Amino acid sequence: MSPARTMRAVLVGSPESLGPCEALRRLVDWELLGRLGWDAEREVFAPAADDPAFGFAVCKVVACDQVTHSRNGLCWRCERHWRRAGPGADLEEFYQTAPARSKNRGGALCRVCRVPGHERPARHRGLCLSCATAMLERGQTVEGYVHGDEHFGPAAPRPSFGRCRVPGCPRWAELRRPPLCEPHDRAWRLDGRPEGAEFAPWCARQRVLEDCPRVVVVGGLAERAQLEVLYGLQRASETERRTRTEEVQRVVNAVRAQGASSLFELRMESLQRHRRLFVAFTCDQVMLGLATPSSEAAKDDWDLRVFGHSGGFLHFGRISQGWLKEATKQWAAERASTVETARVLGRACSHRTSIRHMGRPRALPTKLLPTTRSMRAWRQ
Ligand SMILES: [Zn+2]
Ligand SMILES: [Zn+2]
Ligand SMILES: [Zn+2]
Repeated sequence: MSPARTMRAVLVGSPESLGPCEALRRLVDWELLGRLGWDAEREVFAPAADDPAFGFAVCKVVACDQVTHSRNGLCWRCERHWRRAGPGADLEEFYQTAPARSKNRGGALCRVCRVPGHERPARHRGLCLSCATAMLERGQTVEGYVHGDEHFGPAAPRPSFGRCRVPGCPRWAELRRPPLCEPHDRAWRLDGRPEGAEFAPWCARQRVLEDCPRVVVVGGLAERAQLEVLYGLQRASETERRTRTEEVQRVVNAVRAQGASSLFELRMESLQRHRRLFVAFTCDQVMLGLATPSSEAAKDDWDLRVFGHSGGFLHFGRISQGWLKEATKQWAAERASTVETARVLGRACSHRTSIRHMGRPRALPTKLLPTTRSMRAWRQ
């Protein structure tokens, strides 16, 4: 089944049909999530590198800490250096001697301003903008500025501007106005510097930067969407579904950019396959987690996993007569949790309606068998 059809197959629910957030909140195993790396205060999910579902490898170059997916253990940056090293170079030696990153990506703090209440991001030669400017004005070296020299004493840390105001952005703000990290500041300037009443809505639309591939930042999402993502992560762990945090982050960013209040509302045209699959997996697990045998029995399409089976559907929608449909559903409901396999139940249902319909062939349901095939196609 193609991904597009897969999506239509799974997104049959709506946020409203799932009831209030409370039920979803109860469904989440907060203790397990905490053990997996969920930090509720920072709204960040940071799993361990050796986690069976979310684990990742760190670049083998001693001076590098980037995530890698390649076989030789190099991140994309070190891989480029390695290719330049030419034939005959020794990989083990390269791991030890390859250069460190020259440009940090906004995560590092100023060498001086890095104590609580005084955090500013490093921008130039390991110093924040203000420290670097002071150093240049005084004509000092970096070491002279940090530790003091014959003219000046050691530098003092400067008060922090707080975190970047883009919801979920974990970086420190670089300036007082606007209080944004460097990449978001760049985006802000490109967008015509929205200020005043326009600033907060602008921040809410920004994506969380995807260059921290070890974590998922879910801050700034609507409550339901956040609970759905967390439950998706929980189920991925419980079912040991391999899940890359960077793919989940991109899903979260899409939810934020579209202002969606639930994953069920997400428009997925722009999402790549693995991201769509995570959305499909999560929506499926949320629907399944919230369903009860009685809520399922009220529908025309039953997901037999709700009744304890490993998979399969029963479809009652084609039975046009109300009395027969209800009778068949009731008959199936009484047996749904005891009949061994979905196939047996489906056959029996089909057979039973056929018998009831002898003498009225035109009303005979054309199909009343479980369609496990349609389920398997997108379940992982
Ligand atoms: Zn590397
Ligand atoms: Zn500084
Ligand atoms: Zn930021």
